[in-house]
Amino acid sequence: MAYRVLVAQFMHETNTFSKLSTTLEDYRKRWLIEGADMVPHFTGTKNEVGGYIDSAKKYGWEPVWALAANATPSGKLTRECWETIRDKILAATRAAGKLDGICLSLHGAMVTETEDDAEGALIEALRGIVGPDVPIATTLDLHANATERMARNANALVSFRTYPHIDGYERAVQAAALVQEAMAGHRKPRCLLVQPAMLEGAEHGRTTAPGLMRDLLAIADAAEKEPGINVVSIQVGFTWSDIPYTGPSIAVSHEPGAEKRAREIAAGLIDEMWKRRDEGAKSNYRPVADGVAAARAGAKGGKGPLVLADGTDNPGGGGYNDTTPVLQALLDAGIEDVAFGTIFDPGTVQQAMKAGVGAEIEVSLGGHTDPSMGLPVKATAAVKMLSDGTFRNDGPMNAGVETVMGPTAVLRIGGIDVVTISNRIQTIDRQVFLSQGIDPATKNVVVVKSVQHFRAAYEPIAREVIVVDSGGICSPDISRLKFTRLRRPIWPLDGINEPYAGKRPA
Ligand SMILES: [Zn+2]
Repeated sequence: MAYRVLVAQFMHETNTFSKLSTTLEDYRKRWLIEGADMVPHFTGTKNEVGGYIDSAKKYGWEPVWALAANATPSGKLTRECWETIRDKILAATRAAGKLDGICLSLHGAMVTETEDDAEGALIEALRGIVGPDVPIATTLDLHANATERMARNANALVSFRTYPHIDGYERAVQAAALVQEAMAGHRKPRCLLVQPAMLEGAEHGRTTAPGLMRDLLAIADAAEKEPGINVVSIQVGFTWSDIPYTGPSIAVSHEPGAEKRAREIAAGLIDEMWKRRDEGAKSNYRPVADGVAAARAGAKGGKGPLVLADGTDNPGGGGYNDTTPVLQALLDAGIEDVAFGTIFDPGTVQQAMKAGVGAEIEVSLGGHTDPSMGLPVKATAAVKMLSDGTFRNDGPMNAGVETVMGPTAVLRIGGIDVVTISNRIQTIDRQVFLSQGIDPATKNVVVVKSVQHFRAAYEPIAREVIVVDSGGICSPDISRLKFTRLRRPIWPLDGINEPYAGKRPA
């Protein structure tokens, strides 16, 4: 008889320092897809849901498609938003009758008005419905602020091993394989989690260059091959969250007899992270002026654009997507042949739509969410193109997945084409420009609102990449963040001399 497996996705990376609440409308803008509609929407895509769809086929499961929900990172979920989506998943679980397994796609850093550990609460509620013996596995983002409650109620936490995150599909396939083994009785996975007294670790988990994160992953890969060890996941944490659980952690899914070894593996990884903690503390951000100087210098024999990443206004980390210092600096310097993606400004998009393609309009662009981070840009803009802002990602990240920027206008200001949008999105895919009639590969300068994910698609075409600090809310300078609810003491805010601050786990 086919195994009945419930599949659900509920994603959010919550920046609790954002002034914006996350609402149901924010999910509808990205995706909020119920029931079997998940299948046509994600079949063939390279995200976690795509991985579960293929796995269900491979194992001949009788899948129960609960819901897939994802919203661009921003502030805490409203109580209504959290409870509505949570309750839909729980209702689908209750309505499913007897289930043999559950496969989830969660982020691990979701915070709501009422829950600091939303994923822990969700998995615990699911466990309460299906009882202790039904295997539950979830994928997590590498930037999860994972908790013991998540580990205690799941049988495995399977975190991304790439940043940019290009392995969501593979991690779902891995989680599904373990659920299959557990349902067949070949494994009895349990999960434990160890979290050190660290706010940050492993340089936010970047895997594009050799370094600590790659070394940690190599240790984890080797440990996963040991008998009795199912999954070894490294979460580096999401810093911009003022909750007790912020920071790196290690989750190990193991067989019942291998708990001691699982704890040794976790401790070994944390010791390495602690020993090399200063490697991760270095910032690769440069002043906006450095980016402008490099733009002014132009191409020196190298082909392709200079890619300026506005890392501190990264919508993928809760940035407002409308800060203006980089745009204003490029305009002031008279830099030409620039593609700028993106500025969130639905009001200006509406103004452009009323005026029509070819019109010239006086704009007050961006800078509306928090003018203390840069005032709106006042300029004359030519309306070059108007569209509904919908495209499919080329990848490699989230290949095939639809992105909806909402009503979109390409505005030419001086020598800069600004992709002006109505839904906040991180610039991870080249289609942000290509779908708007702009080929970023042919530009002198390309500006992206992203801190690291853009590298997967843009490094191959870039002559140089510079990440700038424009003073947005995703600043790497943690002294600018006012934490009041963190567990203390914690490195690097407090003077501690070992990774558990005297509270070594059992
Ligand atoms: Zn992430």
